[in-house]
Amino acid sequence: ASTVPATQAVAAATPAYLDAERPVAQRVSDLLGRMTLAEKVGQMTQAERGAIDSDQGQITSLALGSVLSGGGSTPAENTPAAWADMVDSYQSHALATRLHIPLLYGVDSVHGHGNLVGATIFPHNIGLGATRDPQLVETIEHITATETRATGPQWVFAPCVCVARDDRWGRTYESFGEDPALVQQMTTAIEGFQGDGGKDLADSDRVLATAKHYAGDGDTTYGTSTNGTYTIDQGVTITDWQHFQQVDLAPYVTAVKQRDVGSIMPSFSSVQWTDRPGSVPVKMSANKELLTDVLKQKIGFDGVLISDWEAIHQLPGDYATQVRTAVNAGIDMFMEPYSAPQFVQTLISEVQAGRVPMARIDDAVSRILKAKFELGLFEHPYTDRSNIKTIGSVQHRAVARQAVAESQVLLKNQGALPLKPSQKIYVAGVNANDLGNQAGGWTVTWQGQSGNTSFPGTTILQGIQQAAKNVTYSADASAPTAGSDVGVVVIGETPYAEGVGDVGNGHTLDISPADRANIDKVCGAIKPCVVLDVAGRPQIVTDELSKMDAFVMSWLPGSEGAGVADVLFGKKPFTGKLSVSWPRSEAQEPINIGDRNYDPLFPYGYGLTTRR
Ligand code: BGC
Repeated sequence: ASTVPATQAVAAATPAYLDAERPVAQRVSDLLGRMTLAEKVGQMTQAERGAIDSDQGQITSLALGSVLSGGGSTPAENTPAAWADMVDSYQSHALATRLHIPLLYGVDSVHGHGNLVGATIFPHNIGLGATRDPQLVETIEHITATETRATGPQWVFAPCVCVARDDRWGRTYESFGEDPALVQQMTTAIEGFQGDGGKDLADSDRVLATAKHYAGDGDTTYGTSTNGTYTIDQGVTITDWQHFQQVDLAPYVTAVKQRDVGSIMPSFSSVQWTDRPGSVPVKMSANKELLTDVLKQKIGFDGVLISDWEAIHQLPGDYATQVRTAVNAGIDMFMEPYSAPQFVQTLISEVQAGRVPMARIDDAVSRILKAKFELGLFEHPYTDRSNIKTIGSVQHRAVARQAVAESQVLLKNQGALPLKPSQKIYVAGVNANDLGNQAGGWTVTWQGQSGNTSFPGTTILQGIQQAAKNVTYSADASAPTAGSDVGVVVIGETPYAEGVGDVGNGHTLDISPADRANIDKVCGAIKPCVVLDVAGRPQIVTDELSKMDAFVMSWLPGSEGAGVADVLFGKKPFTGKLSVSWPRSEAQEPINIGDRNYDPLFPYGYGLTTRR
């Protein structure tokens, strides 16, 4: 009886935080109690892959909590194995720290694991909103989680639960739509990523999700600032509390209370209150009331607040003031891509000087550690690569193709659709045959790229060619032959991310002169004539509509152009409904359902069906 039972001896030797049998809260407080200030501040710091890659020892020396691939930042060889090797290499440096705290790796994955060549690329959210199919959205994000985690990252900066209220915003396509109720329904995306709250996150097919950008990012006021730059992206939401709560905040209440979202990213934008005398715009990263009092305390968010890319650099004052303001406002982890060392040093000094309370640091670190425990990273820090075989699989691409078909919105049809496989079809327009354009921004690179053929997929033209034998194509509609049975003109935008959108097209919602010429040429020569719009938002087609026999909004469908052909040829019915109101002219912006004197070209929710 003098010997201690073996299990007790092991338990005594193992620190509580390494004991997977204990509740997460116990593990967090045990680990927190062992950490130095520098180690805590390190956990709150996220660096960019490109900044640390040549000196990965920084992960150990700064005890970094996280690394991200911002925008289109990828390993040199953009393959699943290269991704996993890269993330695992960083992980080995994190595990070399005194307390062996694993690293959290973040990537955007806003429409599939878009940075990865070979991943399944889904329609952007604006198209998913048009499907009105929350279950499909959940399935899509489950696939995205599977493909992402198989290559290393355990954290995605998605979904955008922004409510896009002004189509001039260059991130309109990242939104599920203009109606907060629709966006709330589509927060099933979070369950797709995370599974059931804290329970499934350790699984190899789940990732921590981020609802972004909190809050009002899609509801800013359009204008030009004194230096002539457009102010809609990262602008100011000028609002009263009631509107803010009903439109901008609503998706976060659902994301937190019903979906248990693991992290939230504060917006680059500011809020200015119309119902508070003297209110001036306050950047969200500095907004303690909205971050701490409202989101954490009132709504009950217990996850990680991750700042946006260098967002705190936009706050007033010197760097120490910016850091102090943002930490005290409630931000827990800091996306400081190229200034991680300065951030660590500055925050340590601010705490030591008594300007940031230790309790705030402990709260932030506890939230980060909770996520790491729930993700199972202490038990399985390295990438489980078993799902690499599913990346871009036939099954995954079939779901993307289904989503494309469900997202198509039929806005006009005077007998032109469905097409018949026996018809002689004349197809025009660059966007009929450009995978890069049809995938849009956040695809391989941050901005996306016209003519990008580096990733697998099917263009809309190829989809049409698979469905019909007699197809002629000309990008600029040269010699449209009257002998054709039907003309198909694909118009639209070229890729962009953030800002004000299609720069090549002069920042406007107008269709390009080349697209207008194509409509005139084809629809003038061939009847009937079908026009498809491949764009991230409505374009102004008021003057062209009468020339078309059918008009379809295709959004940014991603890699599966065959899904467009599925509805064109009636293999599947058109069922999509507009996720935003369609303006007659750009001057009508912002235009949203419920407006006084609402007079759109097509109302929110509009969409014809070919369902029999
Ligand atoms: C965007 C975020 C994104 C981050 C990292 C920022 O510019 O606003 O949405 O998550 O970059 O790529």
